[in-house]
Amino acid sequence: MDKGDMQADAVVVGAGPAGSSTAHYLAMAGLRVLLLEKSAFPRDKVCGDGLTPRAVAELVRMGVDTSGWARNTGLRAVGGGHTIELPWPETASLPNFGLACPRAELDAALAAKAQESGAVLRENVTVVGPILHERSGRVIGVKAKSAEREPLAFKAPVVVDAGGVSARLATAVGREKAMNRPMGVAYRTYFRSGRSADSVMESHLELWKGKPGKSDLMPGYGWIFPLAGGIVNVGLGSLSSTAKATGLDYRAMFKAWMANASSEWGFTEENQVGRLRGAALPMAFNRKPHYADGLLLVGDAGGMVSPFNGEGIAYALQAGRLAADAIAQAHSRPTITAKDRALAAYPAAMREELGGYYSLGRAFARLIERPRIMHMCVAHGLPRPTLMRLVMRLLSDCYDRRGGDWMDRLISALAKAAPKA
Ligand SMILES: Cc1cc2nc3c(=O)[nH]c(=O)nc-3n(C[C@H](O)[C@H](O)[C@H](O)COP(=O)(O)OP(=O)(O)OC[C@H]3O[C@@H](n4cnc5c(N)ncnc54)[C@H](O)[C@@H]3O)c2cc1C
Repeated sequence: MDKGDMQADAVVVGAGPAGSSTAHYLAMAGLRVLLLEKSAFPRDKVCGDGLTPRAVAELVRMGVDTSGWARNTGLRAVGGGHTIELPWPETASLPNFGLACPRAELDAALAAKAQESGAVLRENVTVVGPILHERSGRVIGVKAKSAEREPLAFKAPVVVDAGGVSARLATAVGREKAMNRPMGVAYRTYFRSGRSADSVMESHLELWKGKPGKSDLMPGYGWIFPLAGGIVNVGLGSLSSTAKATGLDYRAMFKAWMANASSEWGFTEENQVGRLRGAALPMAFNRKPHYADGLLLVGDAGGMVSPFNGEGIAYALQAGRLAADAIAQAHSRPTITAKDRALAAYPAAMREELGGYYSLGRAFARLIERPRIMHMCVAHGLPRPTLMRLVMRLLSDCYDRRGGDWMDRLISALAKAAPKA
């Protein structure tokens, strides 16, 4: 590799949605960006593959071509003996449709976008730790190894940890996850299904061990997201208000759920495509600070998944955009102190945008982590369409932060009143 490539204006570790978004916006601002990724595209990532209108809005901003991806017009919520279909609201800032796209495709498209904008992507490069300035302890680069285990070093005045839930760099500098923040665990697989052309995302607000209403409730929620090409993404997860291990047997829960799912979906062993795989969802800013000592955290590395619905892609893309803005401003400033002042704008912006909303999410997690309470809310709430439209906007973050109708204003007021996470 050309020695010049080892030095950049910013090094971004991990080319998931957070890293590719950061790299794209940095390159657009004219910075020399190195985007380091341990795997090679296309690569899989355990995910529900669902993109809400908030995620779509970020993709539109980035100019990502989404033609051919499955489009959905709303959400079908199932629970408490009721089924309700709610269209995505159209607001000034968000479109009235969502998308679904397998992560192998989505992440490859985002990384290609970052490259097209001018970022240098290095695949098969695993970052193993930070390079610290001897006296100040500031992060000034990363140590890495190639697929052939050749040691590598990349230097930059600013480093971004976009390495997902493992947050290797952040952990290496002592930024541990906060145990008192909500954490999700979710498992998913794919099925060929005759209903893959469904135009809504389906959400199961309660899971039963046997016949719905006539057996034990399991602690979790499920989803069925239709994708293009005759395939649906099916998964389930649990939400805890803390990071303590749940001790749940997700595979057994999945099996029980599938055994009772409507046969229309065709969730049989023969139709299953790929294994059932799971991962953790770090929520409500469970790893902070999002900026200190030359190192920014974006996406899952900074615990940016919503405790309301397990969505992380929209926030990863948003964090990349806001982080890149702060880094570009810092780049133009001459001294470390002035750079740090500009970089501090990033955690402040994240907190302003999502801090109150995520605090509401933490309260929500404490409330519904008990299946019986969830059941009560679902059984009494679902038959009330206006209430459900409000709840849908809250849970999917489909509300206008500025202006909007009475529902938007109510959610904004609640989020403003909440202490910031
Ligand atoms: C089962 C499940 C279902 C989900 N469903 C949805 C959903 O439907 N919609 C939604 O919005 N969110 C969903 N999420 C959450 C979503 O997957 C994450 O929030 C999102 O992927 C975060 O993006 P990221 O870029 O921060 O991290 P990641 O997508 O995890 O990307 C991190 C990247 O960094 C790379 N990397 C890691 N370590 C290193 C290293 N040391 N060196 C170099 N590269 C490294 C990885 O290979 C990866 O490419 C789900 C999560 C799970 C587990």
